[in-house]
Amino acid sequence: MTARAVETHEADEEGSRGEFAIVIGLEVHVQLETDTKVFCGCATEPTNEPNTNVCPTCLGLPGALPVLNEAAVEAALKLGQAIDAEVPDRTRFHRKNYYYPDLPKNFQITQYDAPICSDGEIEVRVGGDSREIGITRAHLEEDPGSLGHARGGRRTSIDAAEYTLVDYNRAGVPLMEIVTEPDFRDPAEARAFLSKLESVLEYLGIFDAGRDGSLRVDANISMVPADDVAAGDSISADVLAAANRTEVKNISSHKGAQRALAYEVTRQRNALERGREIAQETRHWDESRGVTVSMRTKEAEADYRYFAEADLPPLEVAELAAEIEIPELPEARRERFGSEYGLGREAASKLTSTKAVADFYEDLTTEFDPGVAATWVADELLGELNYRDMAIEDVVGRLDEFRRLIELVDQDEITETNATTVLREMLDAGDDPATVIEREGMGKADDDEVTAAVEAAISENPEAVVDYENGEDGALNYLMGQVMDKTGGSADPGSVNGMLRERLDG
Ligand code: ADP
Ligand code: ZN
Ligand code: MG
Repeated sequence: MTARAVETHEADEEGSRGEFAIVIGLEVHVQLETDTKVFCGCATEPTNEPNTNVCPTCLGLPGALPVLNEAAVEAALKLGQAIDAEVPDRTRFHRKNYYYPDLPKNFQITQYDAPICSDGEIEVRVGGDSREIGITRAHLEEDPGSLGHARGGRRTSIDAAEYTLVDYNRAGVPLMEIVTEPDFRDPAEARAFLSKLESVLEYLGIFDAGRDGSLRVDANISMVPADDVAAGDSISADVLAAANRTEVKNISSHKGAQRALAYEVTRQRNALERGREIAQETRHWDESRGVTVSMRTKEAEADYRYFAEADLPPLEVAELAAEIEIPELPEARRERFGSEYGLGREAASKLTSTKAVADFYEDLTTEFDPGVAATWVADELLGELNYRDMAIEDVVGRLDEFRRLIELVDQDEITETNATTVLREMLDAGDDPATVIEREGMGKADDDEVTAAVEAAISENPEAVVDYENGEDGALNYLMGQVMDKTGGSADPGSVNGMLRERLDG
């Protein structure tokens, strides 16, 4: 969106109130998929037994020393390559000190002055527009443990809790903190970015979106005078620094990010219009109430007393970085789907939006016509999933059933119309296609049945036959509808059309 677009948009929507442009920057924590934790050999695999994947190191017991996991470094370098980031020859770790029950050492090992990646970018598309979002830095750190607030044995929110339980299974799971430039001008762009980031991470094989808490977002947002947005959408460092911003914490989904930011836009704009100042503060996103609430004034960097982690030597990464190879990324795959399977841009984008979808589609092309498979996956399957607020991850265990359904259509066992109904039933009732078809009697009608239905439709509707003979367009469609009704939708529309014409014209 250009500066002009910002103003027009504001003016359209808000009439005389169009004085501010939205500025958003994200800090995203993502868990890296490694078998073991970043500074010890404990498993990262989630388990329901609290405090079982732990050892002296991740419990912060005296004398236990960290040892860096090479797999975590490799994952970080893969991300660096994917986002075209600068990687220093040598990097190091720092201690970020704070006292909190989820942090047994009372400091978090993180990176400070030499992040493993800096100055990268990620392209996002919103509507028809494409934007480059700058990645300021992406650094490696350890996850703290997780706290569970409870009351009477049940989980509850922090303010309703009687007590809090701590689980250190997560303590020491490798994280990347990815910090963007304040390049977003709209909550929808922030959401699109998170989807794109997740997709890139999954393509790289270093992230599991299905894992609880694998993506956590802090969203920074401020309003600047619309006049201060220069051509090309740039905003000067002075203007950015002068704008009071809020940092919204506790966001755990793409949709949550967009909702929290939209809430802040309204709240900040309302305050500014009443001549009030926006407090520079940290706010908490309350997902169930759909509001942000003030937590505290923002801590400053000095509060953390960063100092170099002396238990870990500086890390020479140049050699390792040179050896890193990454797989095909969403954009490249989208291009290839276009050229290799003859797909249009929209279909190719949908089919490459997540790795799971792209893999499923590409697997289908070995058996079916790529265009047919594209329609089934991009329009039918994704459409029905989307309608139910589901994603491919929710049905990964059932991909063979969807393949079977396409096979049944391909082999002329059921009609396309019925196949759509079967798909819906499969998703709603959780049955496999054969069960649905059997139950609903949706197998394709045999020829005798269709012939009988054609005869019946003609003899029962003499007016329509006369209309047809008088050249009225609707008559044939009407008769077709009658035949489809009689066969419960299981006749092939093309052949019914042919049979009717043959009978009426003959
Ligand atoms: P801090 O030192 O307070 O953490 P940083 O400069 O590291 O601040 O920026 C943190 C995040 O805030 C980044 O994602 C950045 O893009 C974002 N940010 C910076 N200025 C603004 C602003 N005026 N409005 C919204 N977000 C901003
Ligand atoms: Zn451990
Ligand atoms: Mg910062």
